[in-house]
Amino acid sequence: MARRLTHRPRIVTITGKRAETPLVSTLRWRDATKARPGQYVMVWVPGVDEVPMSLCDIGGVKGIAVHAKGEATSALARLRAGDRIGIRGPYGHGFRHKPGKCLVVAGGTGIACLAPLVEKLARRWPRPSVVVGARTRSELLFVERMRRTGAEVVVTTDDGTAGRKGLATDAAYELLNRNRYSQVCSCGPEAMMRVVASLAQCQSAPVQLSLERYMKCGIGICDSCAMGGLHICVEGPVMDSRRVAGLPDFGAFRRDACGRKERM
Ligand SMILES: Cc1cc2nc3c(=O)[nH]c(=O)nc-3n(C[C@H](O)[C@H](O)[C@H](O)COP(=O)(O)OP(=O)(O)OC[C@H]3O[C@@H](n4cnc5c(N)ncnc54)[C@H](O)[C@@H]3O)c2cc1C
Repeated sequence: MARRLTHRPRIVTITGKRAETPLVSTLRWRDATKARPGQYVMVWVPGVDEVPMSLCDIGGVKGIAVHAKGEATSALARLRAGDRIGIRGPYGHGFRHKPGKCLVVAGGTGIACLAPLVEKLARRWPRPSVVVGARTRSELLFVERMRRTGAEVVVTTDDGTAGRKGLATDAAYELLNRNRYSQVCSCGPEAMMRVVASLAQCQSAPVQLSLERYMKCGIGICDSCAMGGLHICVEGPVMDSRRVAGLPDFGAFRRDACGRKERM
């Protein structure tokens, strides 16, 4: 009985909202639940939908960075301090951190789930290297937050409007040639993560990737996130790249709301 109750949404009151970019805002609420970097919550917007969101803050104040795309995320982005939402979780496997220097590679809003990891790793020595990549300047997220940690931060934009012109993977390639890393962690478009995983092979550094699939239940029942016999909501979203490499859908197919496979 007690176990079932943990999967009921907890109604929380939003205590803070901040516009981070023209399309991304962070919402925060007080929540004493324990969470690890890379875990996600199911966020219920009453009357609209329930959607998965990575936790970008994992302490006594929890946070999500919402990229307004469709109905649920736009409704979330319209909320204000004092409004209420339902939260289930945290769910899934987060990033495991190993001793030694870590390379973190983020594309777009992928930095949301990596930010708590960087903050944790940067409290120790050696400090991590972080690549924050976006298509253009206005889409860059959490750059100052990452710089404040003391990590080595490399910013890239595809169009060169901020930081280095080029892809996040170009910067990752150079960092991998310059430093010795004991682990690589990445979140962003699957095409980017596929390249990150193959670049890291030259150092035999273990790679952890955070995957995004359609998720409805978050507890391995509905099959929406099924991928090569695994439920990403439970076995992921963070997985070892060697395990991900064995999944035929990685970087190629995802499922829609009805469970139909579609090309990415
Ligand atoms: C583990 C995980 C962590 C995520 N973290 C973040 C985050 O930190 N910030 C953020 O902005 N977004 C995050 N997302 C994506 C976010 O859940 C979707 O963008 C959101 O559900 C879209 O809903 P919508 O109604 O606004 O858009 P829709 O118009 O319904 O869909 C827009 C896109 O989002 C996808 N999507 C829709 N519903 C879901 C769902 N239930 N699960 C997964 N994908 C869905 C659709 O396939 C489509 O590609 C995460 C997804 C997962 C699986």
